[in-house]
Parts: sequence; C-alpha cells; structure tokens
Amino acid sequence: MVHGYNGKIARVNLQERSFKVENPEESVYKMYLGGRGLGAYYLFRELAPKTDALAPENIIIIATSVITGVPIAGMSRCSIIAKSPLTGTYGETEAGGFFGSELKGTGFDALIIEGRSVKPVYLFVQDNRVDFKDASTIWGKNTKEAQTEIREQLNDRHARIALIGPAGENLVRYACILNELKFAHGRGGLGAVMGSKRLKAVAVHGNVKPQLKDPEKVQNIAKWMATHWKELPGTVTRSTLGTADAVLPLNALGILPTRNFQGGAFAKAENVSGGKMAETILTGTDGCYACQIRCKREVTTDVPYETEPEYGGPEYETIVAFGPLCDVGDLGAVSKANELCNAYGLDTISTGSSIAFAIECYESGLLTSKDTKGLKLRWGDADSVLQLIGMIAHRQGIGDLLGEGVKRASEKIGKSSNRFALHTKGKELAMHDPRGKTGVAIGYAISPSGSDHMQAAHDPVFAKPSKFMEIAGITKSVDPRDLGPDKVRAFVYAHLWWGLLDCLGACKFVFIPHNAGVLDPHQLVEIVNASTGWQTSLWSLMKASERALNLARAFNMREGFTAADDTLPERLYEEIQFGPSKGAKINKEQFQNALHLYYEMMGWDPETGAPSATKLLELDLGWINEH
Ligand code: SF4
Repeated sequence: MVHGYNGKIARVNLQERSFKVENPEESVYKMYLGGRGLGAYYLFRELAPKTDALAPENIIIIATSVITGVPIAGMSRCSIIAKSPLTGTYGETEAGGFFGSELKGTGFDALIIEGRSVKPVYLFVQDNRVDFKDASTIWGKNTKEAQTEIREQLNDRHARIALIGPAGENLVRYACILNELKFAHGRGGLGAVMGSKRLKAVAVHGNVKPQLKDPEKVQNIAKWMATHWKELPGTVTRSTLGTADAVLPLNALGILPTRNFQGGAFAKAENVSGGKMAETILTGTDGCYACQIRCKREVTTDVPYETEPEYGGPEYETIVAFGPLCDVGDLGAVSKANELCNAYGLDTISTGSSIAFAIECYESGLLTSKDTKGLKLRWGDADSVLQLIGMIAHRQGIGDLLGEGVKRASEKIGKSSNRFALHTKGKELAMHDPRGKTGVAIGYAISPSGSDHMQAAHDPVFAKPSKFMEIAGITKSVDPRDLGPDKVRAFVYAHLWWGLLDCLGACKFVFIPHNAGVLDPHQLVEIVNASTGWQTSLWSLMKASERALNLARAFNMREGFTAADDTLPERLYEEIQFGPSKGAKINKEQFQNALHLYYEMMGWDPETGAPSATKLLELDLGWINEH
C-alpha cells in the first residue's frame, strides 16, 4: 500500500469516451514527484515530435503531486501540462485553489486526456471513475454561467471545476483555464488546447483521499505553520494587501513595467496599489486549500466598471498588465479587465501585453484606424482596453490578430513592429522588468515554457542574508543588476528550488526561502516523508527538480528549439526611458556570457544549450535518447 498518493492515474480518451486506470511504478513517483515532473515525463514519452498543439494528438496532463492535499498551507497547487499553442514548446501552468486537493481525493493522482471529442463535453471525475457529460448547452458560455450550470446538472454544489470560456473555444493562443472562476492556470494557452478538444470543463469531487504515513507529524507541521506565519512581516503584508503589495516597491525602484516596458515608473501607481484596493474596493479575502495567509482578493466596484465578486480581485500581474503597462490608472477599470478575462478565460498577462503592443503600434502609426475599424488605441484609454478584451476573446476585428499573441501579430503587421512585441519564445513577458533584476532575465530566456516570472527567486533575495542564502551555501551577496558568476550560481540554485515547488504543487509564497517564506526546505522534506513514508532528502528532491527541467528542455530541443531561442526582446537591451531606473539596460554581451555560464553549470552544451549525454545519464534520463 502506498501513502500520500494514490498510485493511480486515469487515462481519458475523448474520442472514444472511455477511460482506463494505470498504476505507475513507485519509482516514477520517486523520480518525478508530480506536477511539472510527472507532466514532463508523460509529455516527453507520449507526444510525437512536431505535433500541432491544437491537433487532437496533443495530450493534456492534469497532475497533482505526492503531497497535494496534505492539510498544510501551500499544498494546494495543481499543474496542467501540454504542448503550448502560443510557443510551440513544452507548456506548463500551475494554479492554487481547491481543484488540486479535490482531484487527489478522487483516487487519481493525475489525468491524461487524449483525443478530441466529436461534440462538446465535460468530465466528471469522482471516486475512481470518470464520466463524460454533454456540454452542448454550456459551450459558448462565460465561465461563471458554465460553472453554475455544471453544478446544477451534477446536482453537486461542492464539485470543484476547472473550465474554459469563449476564448478557449475560439482558440485564442493565450486562453487560460480557470478553477473556481479566479484561480487561473493562466499561461501558455492551454485553455485553447482544451478548446481544440471540445473539452469545456473538468469537474472533480473526491471522497477517497490517500492515507498519510504519519498523520501526527503532518498535523504538527500544520500547527507550526498556523502559529508562526504571522511572525513574518512580508507574509502579513501579502495577507493584508495581496500580491498587489509589490506595486509601490517596484515603482519606487523604477522597474514597474509602464507603457509596454518603455519606462519603469507610473505616475498613478498609488491609484492601483494594494493599499488603495484595501481602502476602496476590497470586500473580502480568499485563499487556497488549508492556507491561513489568504492572499486572494475579492472586490466590488461601481459604475462605470461594476464587477462581480465571484471573479476575484486583480493580482499584481493583472494590475500591472492593464494598469501601468497600458497607462491606465483606474483601479475600477483594472478590476473590470480582470473580471472580463476570468469570464472569457483569457490569460491576463498576455492579454494586457497584447493590448499594450497594439497601442504602441497604433501610437507609432504601424496600426491605423483602418486596421482597427475606427477604434482609437491610446495610452490611458481604459474603455478601448476593455473593448479589446472582448474582441480578443471572440476573435473579432483586430482582436483576431491580437489573439494570436504579440509574436505572430508582429510578424503579420511587419514594419518593425517586432520592436514592440515583448516576449520570449512567443510568450508575453510577465510584469517584472529584468533591467532592474537580471536573474529574472536569465529566467525569462531559459524558461522551457517561455517568459515566466515564477522560474526563480527574484534578485533582491540574493542581495542580503536570507534563509535561502544560508541553505544554499551562498555567502556572498549579489547586486540585483549583476550578471557575473555569483549571480548565475545563485540563479541556478534558486531555479532548481522553485522548480521543485512546481513538481510538488507547493505554493511559492509559503515556501519562498527568504525572509517572507514561512516553511523552510527542511520542513518540506519532512512533509514528503511524513506523507509517503519515504526516506528522501533535500538533495534527492532537488535532483527530481533538475530531472524535470532537463526533460522539459529535451522536449523543446526535440521540437527544434536551440540556444538561439534563449533570447530577450531587444527593448530589454535598451535603456529604461523614465523613472528612478532611467538609463538601466541589460548588456547583451554580459547576458550572453551569463547564459553560457549557466549552460555549463547545468551540464548543458555551452553552444547548443542541449543537455549533455553525461548530464542525462547522471539524472537517470538516458532513456530519452530512445524517444
Ligand atoms: S499564500 Fe496565497 S496563493 Fe499561496 S496557498 Fe496561500 S492563499 Fe494560496
């Protein structure tokens, strides 16, 4: 008997409307843990090279981990993995909430979804079975209506539901998957993969949670967390202000992405800050399974931007993507943008970035009112931003082009519009300017799924003593703008730690190993061992993270990606134009040297960036040469 996990996955075929249960060996769980690791394992093994991401042959892996659902804060996250229609790379997206812990309670650790349904369908996964349900009456509906109708049809108010909106059905390349209407599996367009399969939703309700090997020890760690989390000022701020707590500090540093990364300071930053939200529109807080921090927001706004609280309030990334990035300083409008994206099933980061790209093209004359059918696109015009969101979701007018993402849109527009297309590997940049924290630049460039701010700790962590520095054995502090060997080394260690959290479905806000993280790496190891009965170590878990990263990298190499794709948009090599960091830029030569050094530290070929045969053998990944 296994503990902590189920030892079962469900393989679902949408074409045949059938499922079968598989029992992976324990060694698979030990080597890949779950989440990113399990997803990369199955995607690499099962997806034929060069498969179109929107073809029926693409597969979707929805994966929990060996500790998802353990009743401790932060054990809530669930990974969804497929080939991305936005980047053509390995695609991965995580979200918290309650979906992951509920899925784990159905008796399955993961679902592998294959094929394309003839008609719209949704899945109902409950204790050890998968049922196929007709989705024809909910196809085309916004997420809230669809979720309500599914719960009514199932007569189950407590089913947790991950679903797509019209954007996913319309194959917008950055359509997302929402659970509980506000926890977004946001990035990389995996909502479009669900849409291409005519899969509207996956509902889960589980009553067969796996047993834990040492429940008392787990309970003790949960109690420790509940008692100690308020001792950390950073965590308390996150609880009171949400992730929007980052708006003003980054603005003060001059690295708050403004006007499509032209500048780093926003004159109306106060208006869209976490404090302003708390004072004006905040009506409640929310959190993920078993978490006391409750960093999620609920807001209610008035005319002209009324919002429905069920869609949650905007997070930092969303605030910046529709606020400073588009020069909009109205929190009501930003909250409305958040609501629309959650209703239509759009990734807020890519949507805001695509709109900022369009505005800059329009302001520069590369797009005209002929292209936009009369819609004027101007910095700071909240109403046109909101109008564009609907047009993107429904692929109407210029929204059809913008729904392709900035890389494809700039290729179509031509006329040097690629200067305004801020992406890596086709995925729009997250709302952090690497010109002020260069480790983020390395993370953007080498992320296997394209630009991602969640790849590693951000550079200020390396600038002063912290729990992370102590545990990683880093004794020298490193300046946030440094790109030398000390920074690369710190990035390598932080990257593997953060990757481990994605393999285990653990929330980074709970486990950030600096002074805002509550639980530390040793406690994470204790949680794994107390749950599973294993005798694992931090070293072994970090190796699992490295294994998952190398698998994702190898997947991309097989798809034809090379070191030449580990790039940054040109704008990041240019100076920040305004704000306290005016003049800051990334030195291209230093950045290339840092990348080469990173490859060598990782055991990757310094020229091609491919994992070396020796590294693969060391990670017990020699088998991938047979695939
Ligand atoms: S800290 Fe926030 S995101 Fe993390 S588990 Fe708690 S509520 Fe969820």
